[in-house]
Amino acid sequence: MQERELFHKNKIKLTEQRKEVYSILSRAIKPLSLDEIQHDCNKIDFSSVYRSIRTFIQKGIVTEHYFGDRKPKYSLKMNDSHRHYIKCSKCGRIDELKNVCIIDEVNKKTKYKIVDHYMEFIGVCPECLKK
Ligand SMILES: [Zn+2]
Ligand SMILES: [Zn+2]
Repeated sequence: MQERELFHKNKIKLTEQRKEVYSILSRAIKPLSLDEIQHDCNKIDFSSVYRSIRTFIQKGIVTEHYFGDRKPKYSLKMNDSHRHYIKCSKCGRIDELKNVCIIDEVNKKTKYKIVDHYMEFIGVCPECLKK
C-alpha cells in the first residue's frame, strides 16, 4: 500500500516527520530502536520521532518488540504476515524468525480469539558461540 493511502485510511495526518519515520521503517530489514530511527532521520528531533512512533502504534501500523532490555525496537506491521525476531545477547545481532508463531496453538488450547501477541527470543548467535 502506498503510504499516502495508508495514512489516509488510518486517519493520520501526513506530515514530513511521519513520512520520514515511516520510510525509514519501511526500508529496515530488522526492528529499529528510537535512537537508530533518529540517527537515520534528517533534522528530526528525538521527541518528534517518539511521537510519530506512538501514533503509528496506536493506529496499529507499527509493532513494538522487547528484547529483555529497556529499549524497545519498532517495525512496521505487515498486512499479509507478521514477524518474530531473535536477538543475540552478546553482539546485538537480530535475525528474523520465519514461520515461527504459536497463535494457532494458543488458540486451539485456550479457545480464545487472539487479538495481539508479543514473542521475541534472546539467545547467543552461532558466531558468538564460536568465540
Ligand atoms: Zn552474537
Ligand atoms: Zn506471531
